[in-house]
Order: sequence, then C-alpha cells, then structure tokens
Amino acid sequence: METAPRFAVERTLGRLARLLRMLGFDTISECEHPRRDFAARVDSGRVFLARSRGGRGEPHVRRRLRIRSDRPADQVVEVLRALGIRPEAIRPFRLCLLCNEPIARVERREVAGLVPDYTWETNETFTRCPRCRRVYWRGSHTERALAEIRTWVRRATEEGGEGEPAGHASRPAGKDPTASA
Ligand SMILES: [Zn+2]
Repeated sequence: METAPRFAVERTLGRLARLLRMLGFDTISECEHPRRDFAARVDSGRVFLARSRGGRGEPHVRRRLRIRSDRPADQVVEVLRALGIRPEAIRPFRLCLLCNEPIARVERREVAGLVPDYTWETNETFTRCPRCRRVYWRGSHTERALAEIRTWVRRATEEGGEGEPAGHASRPAGKDPTASA
C-alpha cells in the first residue's frame, strides 16, 4: 500500500497548504518559516509545490510540481490530478490546519467554555491540536468542506485523468471526520 504524499509549498501557496492539510496531507509551508529554516526542514521525500519555475535556494526534493492555477481550489485539483491521488488516500480533518499537527480526540468537558455554548451543547465529539490548542468539531462547516472535497476529487478524475481508470469519480471521498481522530 502506497503511503500518502507529503508536501512542502513555497511562500505564495499558503492557502493551498491549508487545504492540503484539510485533506489530511502532511504539508509544511514556507510562509510559516524563516526562509533558511524552511529549506533545511524539507526532507527529500516531500513533493515541493511552487508557482515559479524554480531557482536557487529551493529545497532538494525528488519531486517538484509547478502549480499553474491562481485559485486555491483549482490548485488542489491540480495536485490531486498530477499525483494521481486516490480518494482512499484522503483522510479529511485529521491535521490542524494551522500547525500541521495530528489533532486528537478530547473529552467534551475539557472544552467547556472554550467553544460557543450552542456548539458545546449540541456536539458530543471534539478534537484538539496538541500544539496550538485549537478546538475542532463537526458542524455545518464540516459538511460544506466535505462537499467541496468531493467536488475536487471528481474534477481531478474527470478533467484529463491521463489514462487513470474510471470508477473513482462517483465514490465519495468524505468520511466521518471524527472517525480517524
Ligand atoms: Zn494547531
């Protein structure tokens, strides 16, 4: 079984980094690190995503992908298509969008007072980032995100899949986001 790709993105692709994290892909972002530190942190197993043609000071990686779209949603589709990422490889909502850390299930009482009252009263399950302590829960925002993810997967498969076998397009990528936490 192939392992999920890991990414590093250049300075201008900060929003793409968050979307890739939302899909569950380990992604480090240049705009979150001082420049030198960033190149040093990128191990060669990561796929480097960049808008530019490349130049000096870039991290040394085995694979580099040039991103051509301007919109973050289109950029995600580009990545999914170029790498032939299967819906099964997508594990939404397992990483903190800000820190790239795996989030973990927490007791409901632990987040009392940290989330809006209505949210606390109407949700049983909460997860939390161990680094920044941000709390996550399932809500209408989650449903909207899952719908978006399904659209990206469908577009990636449909728009010139370069010989990719059909049959994955209709399969929903979404899983219960709390299931893997
Ligand atoms: Zn965090």
